[in-house]
Amino acid sequence: MGRFNLLGLAVLASLPSLVTANPAGRRTFDYVVIGGGTAGLVVATRLSEDPDTTVAVIEAGPHHVDEPLVDTPEFFSKALGNPAFDWRFVTTPQANLNNAILPQPRGKMLGGSSGLNFIVWDRASQREYDAWEQLGATGWNWNSLLPYFKKTETVAPQLQADIFPQAMQPPQVNFDDFHGRSGPVQPSYNVIYSNVSVPYVETINNIGVGTNSDPYTGNATGVYNTEVAIDRVKNLGKRSYAASTYFNMSSDRPNLTVFLSTQATKINFDLGDSVVSLLSSLLSSLLGLGQMRASSVDVVALNSTGITGRVFARKEVILSGGAFGTPQLLELSGIGNPEILREAGIPTLIDLPAVGENFQDHPSFTQDFEVQNTLFTYDLLRNNATFNSSQTAEYSESGTGLLANVQFVLTFSPLKALISSELLATVQDQATALINAPGTSPLARRQHRITRDFLTADDVGNIEFIMFPGGGRTRVAPTPGSAYITVYTCLMHPFSRGSVHVNTSDPMASPLIDPSYLDNDIDRQLALQGVKLARTITQTEPLNALVVGDHSPGANVTTDADWTEFTKDFLTTTYHPIGTAAMLPRELGGVVDPLTLKVHGTANLRVVDASLMPMLIATHPQSTVYAIAERAADIIRGRILGS
Ligand SMILES: Cc1cc2nc3c(=O)[nH]c(=O)nc-3n(C[C@H](O)[C@H](O)[C@H](O)COP(=O)(O)OP(=O)(O)OC[C@H]3O[C@@H](n4cnc5c(N)ncnc54)[C@H](O)[C@@H]3O)c2cc1C
Repeated sequence: MGRFNLLGLAVLASLPSLVTANPAGRRTFDYVVIGGGTAGLVVATRLSEDPDTTVAVIEAGPHHVDEPLVDTPEFFSKALGNPAFDWRFVTTPQANLNNAILPQPRGKMLGGSSGLNFIVWDRASQREYDAWEQLGATGWNWNSLLPYFKKTETVAPQLQADIFPQAMQPPQVNFDDFHGRSGPVQPSYNVIYSNVSVPYVETINNIGVGTNSDPYTGNATGVYNTEVAIDRVKNLGKRSYAASTYFNMSSDRPNLTVFLSTQATKINFDLGDSVVSLLSSLLSSLLGLGQMRASSVDVVALNSTGITGRVFARKEVILSGGAFGTPQLLELSGIGNPEILREAGIPTLIDLPAVGENFQDHPSFTQDFEVQNTLFTYDLLRNNATFNSSQTAEYSESGTGLLANVQFVLTFSPLKALISSELLATVQDQATALINAPGTSPLARRQHRITRDFLTADDVGNIEFIMFPGGGRTRVAPTPGSAYITVYTCLMHPFSRGSVHVNTSDPMASPLIDPSYLDNDIDRQLALQGVKLARTITQTEPLNALVVGDHSPGANVTTDADWTEFTKDFLTTTYHPIGTAAMLPRELGGVVDPLTLKVHGTANLRVVDASLMPMLIATHPQSTVYAIAERAADIIRGRILGS
């Protein structure tokens, strides 16, 4: 693998000759993949399976090998904000959150956000994937994705089933219908469970949400034992992510070249050799008559040399920069809303106003509750130095123990189970008013109709509660010696829509990320209900008997006004941005043709990453991103009809 570090640098060293367009110094590949993240590495690995096809990956981050902050599951979140791992994006001031500017972390490394994320490995409900097709993403639905979900993973059998409730173990009979047995990513079930988990699950049942023994089968609602992307078979106890799985499979292929610590700054379009041909292509593209051809990618080395260069694509450029990087690079390359491009000083090549629009994210609110300190929670690692040392030693010796564990209990609840029928009816009416409002775009209108149906569906989660048995994750520091549970309340199908755009032609500047959190009144109401419910959960038996008190935001938060302020002050991202290069018809606000994944108006520039998702789904998105990328690779290879 080290070879690729060296190769990347070696190629970089020769880049200046490419800038001068010296044909002898050109590095040309069949496919140039921009972004060696979650989706980019899947695509590059699959395309390079053909030894006669050359593939380059341009990745802004380094490759972290044997890096505890990436590999050790229990260290999840410790690399956030660290420039060696994280782009450290932030939002614009959020009008509905007292103008707060919030972090928007993204993985900046080979493996991308799969190397920075919190390791949960789950799936949404069938109805939510089918909604993509209903919306206009032809060919993208549960049935078309299921084989690819399976293709990405080898799910390890459960090793220990005696602590978590037996009802939560997936039935083995149909297991292989929904779970992969021979894919690169190695998800597993946890092997250590807090003794808060069972009472917590029973409490969730008592508030009216049932247990789901296998949420991977098309109905992802209920409280369940999630798989986690932790390898317990090959790389014992390590994060299983795109670099350690897909890239590991392909790293010694001579036809795959990875440019590390190299940022793509612009995609160039080959409009022929003559000025006449260039102008006529430009004109026909602007008139919607022709298709622009991506021919090369400008890059800059993110090391002290700052060398710039150009990498050429014989066949295609595939953009996998993620929900922020992809719209940014499209705009830097002249594809987007002409007004935005003009203000940023970028000439428009393709008039595509949907670029960077349709931004959606799951807002989240974090509360923690003190529990009896005799319970087994992750706080033990903080409270008991001897235990911590023994766990650290066990992990380094055998890759097992608490450091090889990330135990979240997930609950995706239909709204019906949580709020009164009166409030539900009010929210539905508000959704109808929004659909009919004159300012609502045709795309938002269609999306909101679907979301309105989701509000009353039995098989769609509208609010997620994530329980982590441990504290230290809110703004109020844990008291030494105390134990906690943390409950994250997340909105799964918000009505608010944001955007990601450039405001300068400088490729090194961060894009303007405006999630417009809680812009919509329905979102504000559901946030209010959700955070109140999180407390209600802890006041319901049998959990109530174990809870000592409300730690953050604290028992003094009682009225709706208090809770509303809390939602404004404590909102964070759940780190699930999507939608900024949606795969939808152009006339509906799409950026990418769903059948080919080609950017509208281009002949050979495809997008493959989370920005394609036209609508949020009630799940943590990584396994869906892998599945999308696997299917995309088959589209690119012409293995799927219609592409
Ligand atoms: C902190 C955090 C926690 C999360 N927790 C979970 C979780 O527990 N479970 C879950 O399912 N999902 C989780 N997610 C979400 C999930 O990880 C992402 O949805 C998914 O990884 C996105 O994949 P992607 O391919 O779209 O983008 P990424 O994986 O981010 O890949 C984009 C890649 O492109 C590179 N890049 C961008 N621009 C350029 C450029 N101009 N030039 C060169 N390279 C570029 C980036 O460095 C990056 O490597 C989390 C995400 C984060 C950030």
